[in-house]
Amino acid sequence: MSDKPQFSPGVMKYIEEGKKCLVEREALLERVKKYKFDTLAVHGLYSVEEALNLNQGALIEPLYLSASQAYRDADELEAALAYLIPTWCYTRIANPTTYYLEWTMALLEGYRTGVDTSCVVTASGMGAIMSAVDPFLVKQKDGPETMNFVSGVQVYGGTFQQFAIRKMAERGVEVRWILNPEDVEEWRSKIDENTRFLYVEAPSNPQQSFCDVEALAELAHSWEIPFIFDATCATPALLRPIAHGADIVVHSMTKTITSSGVAVGGALISRKPIVTKIKNDHPLFKDSFAEYVKFLPYRDNGPASAPVNAMFALNDLRTLRSRMDMFSRNTQKVAEYLETHPRVYQVDYLGLPSFPLHQLAKRYLKLVDSDDGAGNEVNRYGHLMSFRVEGPPENARRVFDNFRMIYRATDLGRIKSVATIPAISTHQQQGVDAREKADVPPQLIRLCVGGENPDDVIADLDQALNML
Ligand SMILES: *Cc1c(COP(=O)(O)O)cnc(C)c1O
Repeated sequence: MSDKPQFSPGVMKYIEEGKKCLVEREALLERVKKYKFDTLAVHGLYSVEEALNLNQGALIEPLYLSASQAYRDADELEAALAYLIPTWCYTRIANPTTYYLEWTMALLEGYRTGVDTSCVVTASGMGAIMSAVDPFLVKQKDGPETMNFVSGVQVYGGTFQQFAIRKMAERGVEVRWILNPEDVEEWRSKIDENTRFLYVEAPSNPQQSFCDVEALAELAHSWEIPFIFDATCATPALLRPIAHGADIVVHSMTKTITSSGVAVGGALISRKPIVTKIKNDHPLFKDSFAEYVKFLPYRDNGPASAPVNAMFALNDLRTLRSRMDMFSRNTQKVAEYLETHPRVYQVDYLGLPSFPLHQLAKRYLKLVDSDDGAGNEVNRYGHLMSFRVEGPPENARRVFDNFRMIYRATDLGRIKSVATIPAISTHQQQGVDAREKADVPPQLIRLCVGGENPDDVIADLDQALNML
């Protein structure tokens, strides 16, 4: 507190009580940090003690459908609003159900990284991306008028719009696009002293571009700027970018994390501390960026998650590792089938040895806590893939229209197999030039293989392709 407010003995009593709660939480954290990935995903920070003492024995984290929190008296209210006691106050700022999800995500992204992490959960993936990048795009006192950031061009369609329109066209922030994110030299050539951060999505949706995570983190840090990573398609079960030096990770939890497909959500996880040269008076800005976002810009801008959506995400998250394993194995089988089909001229899947980025992805995408029998983690490549149908774009449309079981939707990460044609859906608004730059031709069908038996997915693809 900058002006050092004096608190009455009544307020101090609550502050002391709050400190005790924080000590208890630290002890719990120490305990759960020893858990394996699956155990963290199942339990997070919700414990038997908390269930019995506070929640009538409920095994599952309660859903707090209250917009706000009541306080015992003026002293507690004062301590709470000074953020000096653990409090949730108002669901735009925090909520107990969202809190469980935030801690689980922070612990999973921080798993075996050797660093501490914090997390803020948002209403959507786009909200998480906005919350991650905006605090770095501020005018600095006595700083230059211009600023830029460097981003892989292979990003989710919504991200492309947010960067190209909301940041560049509307606010004059220059976005410097990287055409080949695997090429570290291209990144190096685009950075200057006005660059605020590096941003990448990997594997990207739908092209599955990939990058050398460690090299890019090192490059960013040599300029004293953060490396922001959208790891939606990998999930922490396959890749924890913070372990390789990334500063901030964003997720659309709408996708694989909530694969039942019942809710929208996002998450921002940061390492403690992040690298940045932005001058910001608030100590959390550098020390715990996700908490900074939560307590300040998020509070003021309002992208909070609905607690019910947080609950859905939390429930699906518990089985993340085994689901990613299953999804990846199913997708591998489907991709191998498509590679042999005469009507398909290209299959893009990071798990295929023929894919140009296979070796690079192999270095990074590994199923956490798995063992190949020789003490190494096994490679898994997720459930996003795409294939390109021979002939004019109408052929791809016909194959697409012939699917009987696979759903046609601009969706991915589902327990049910879902396909889309990005050129006419997710990437429609970008226009032909941008689609060409991003290598999204109209012949390309993005397929996200679900939890069905892969033989049935193959049968559906087979009958659709054979109708050509
Ligand atoms: C869907 C998606 C987003 C946006 O997330 P929403 O939850 O839809 O707002 C961001 N990044 C990637 C990689 C995505 O697939």
